[in-house]
Amino acid sequence: MILSIQTGQNNPILRQKSKKVKEINPIIKQLILDMVETLKAKNGLGLAAPQVGQSLRIIVVQPEPDKEALILINPQIKKTSPEKEIMEEGCLSLPDISVTVERPVKITVQGLTPDGQPVKIEAKGLLARVIQHEIEHLDGILIIDKIKSS
Ligand code: ZN
Repeated sequence: MILSIQTGQNNPILRQKSKKVKEINPIIKQLILDMVETLKAKNGLGLAAPQVGQSLRIIVVQPEPDKEALILINPQIKKTSPEKEIMEEGCLSLPDISVTVERPVKITVQGLTPDGQPVKIEAKGLLARVIQHEIEHLDGILIIDKIKSS
């Protein structure tokens, strides 16, 4: 099922800290399937559960169209590279905005797969960027907050 996307920089669901997933039950599994379907339908690179109205720590990432989506439950960034990169980012929840964001080029992230298996992933470039963007959604952070005041 394609879910509707929560939008707006002052939308409360996008601004709260999401809760950890305690048990990967059938409701969570269905939510993940729906998130993957929604992300594909919207041609997005990534989606976090609060963006579909669920305040839970789940992200889905799809930086390359033909590859399988990367799904992480309770993701945590464990390491970031000192090298940073600046790129323009958009967000499905802020449809009319694009922001130049500086982020570490490489990260190590750990979390759970949809089967509840712990995984650790080293990512770089666009994949690393999208993962960082989505994890920020879980903490109520939006790209609009990343605009540097000069
Ligand atoms: Zn976003």
